[in-house]
Parts: sequence; C-alpha cells; structure tokens
Amino acid sequence: VVEFRGVVKEFAGHRALAGFDLTLQAGEFVALLGPSGSGKTTALRVLAGLESADVGTITINGADVSGLPTGKRDMGMVFQAYSLFPHLSAGENVEFGLRMRKVNAAERRSRARSALALVGLDAHYDRYAHQLSGGQQQRVALARALVTEPRVLLLDEPLSALDAKVRVQLREEIRRIQTELGITTLFVTHDQDEALAVADRVAVMRAGNIEQVDTPEGLYARPGSPFVADFVGLSN
Ligand code: ATP
Repeated sequence: VVEFRGVVKEFAGHRALAGFDLTLQAGEFVALLGPSGSGKTTALRVLAGLESADVGTITINGADVSGLPTGKRDMGMVFQAYSLFPHLSAGENVEFGLRMRKVNAAERRSRARSALALVGLDAHYDRYAHQLSGGQQQRVALARALVTEPRVLLLDEPLSALDAKVRVQLREEIRRIQTELGITTLFVTHDQDEALAVADRVAVMRAGNIEQVDTPEGLYARPGSPFVADFVGLSN
C-alpha cells in the first residue's frame, strides 16, 4: 500500500502539489489523469524520490520513505521516451539495473532474458536501441523497470511518443503484465481514453490536488464536478 498524505511541493512559489492525498492499494493500477501542469509528474517524482516533498509524507506499507534516496525505494520507472542507452543492446539495457546491484553476469543475463520475454522481445536481446521501433524501445524500458522485481511501478506518459495503434496495443500489454505480476502501479497520463481503459481507479488532478478519484465506471456515472465531466469527455 502506497500512501501520499498532505504532500506539498512548491517551485519558486508555485504550488505544483497543494496537499496531495492518494492511496494505492497493493496490486492496484491507478492512473493520474489531468491537464498539463496539474502536478501529475511532480506527484510521481516525489514518490520516486526524484523530488522531495516540502510538507507531508509518503509511506509504503506504513513505513515513511521520505528519507530514502531513489535507489533505495524499490521502484521501477518508465518515462516518456528515449530513455534507453543507445550504445547498449536491449539485453544490456535491461541488465543495467542488476549490474548496479552487483548481480553476477550469468544471473544478470538470465534475468534480463526473462524480463525481455515478459514483454515479447526475447529474440531482440542483442539489438541496439536505435535498431528498435519506438514501441519496442518502450517494451525494453518496461523490461528494465521490472527486472529488479520492484514493489512499485511508475509510468510517466510511457505511450505518448507512440503512434495511435501501437499506443493501444502497448497499453493493453502493460495492463496484462501488471495484472500477471500484481505490481502496484501509478500511471501518469493526460489522455482520458488511456486512463479509463486500463486503470482500476483514475485520479483526476487539477491544480495540484485530486478533484475526484474513482473507478472508470464511477467517474462516468457520477462525475463530481463539471471539470471532471469535461475531462472524462462527458460534456458536449
Ligand atoms: P504535463 O502533463 O505537462 O507534464 P503535469 O500535470 O505532469 O503536466 P507537472 O510537470 O507536475 O505537471 O508540473 C506542475 C507544475 O509545476 C507546473 O506548473 C510546472 O511548470 C511546475 N514545475 C514542475 N517541475 C518544475 C521544476 N523542476 N521547476 C519549476 N517548476 C516546475
């Protein structure tokens, strides 16, 4: 269970997060949905330890992680795009996180192969990043995020650089893998179709806070405000 409680984060006097509260149940897939600048990425970065909260706490299974550096938070992350090392093969990219943890070469290779198999790319172990399509690169990034068996998966607009068809395929695949592993997942997107299609619950953000959090069906049936109705595409 991941809990944000009263998290405030300011940049030069501007409140990117203004007392942000959110709970992710173990194994849950939660989408943070909202317009540009509403604070989605900041929430994810604070959870990852890439930014520190000015006020408030973040706990994982009840333990405060605020003091822990990113590397000790046991999270896998996938960002928008272009995050692979271009001079390394797909397999070496996936192995990278294990190398940092001093896992021996034979085990690194076998775990990287399994992670690539999970995303359907076991045949592409030796391909360089630039020899892969955008969708394949994001699959490798997902394998790299998962190879360390983290307890939380953070996805920041991982599909936004891909074309529409690949975007739909990959979101389904991410959801399938997430369910298979049962990994608690926070998925940042500004695309309502994407959020409503894949998430167990969707948290709609506005100006650094959550305006409403509910299942996709709940948001459709009971939008709590005109902003939410508009954002999930109910108004005309
Ligand atoms: P987008 O979809 O455009 O990425 P977002 O909802 O993820 O938007 P954030 O990136 O979290 O929003 O940004 C929230 C606010 O904080 C914005 O006004 C942004 O300009 C500001 N902000 C974010 N990071 C920084 C930073 N490092 N320095 C200064 N301001 C920042």
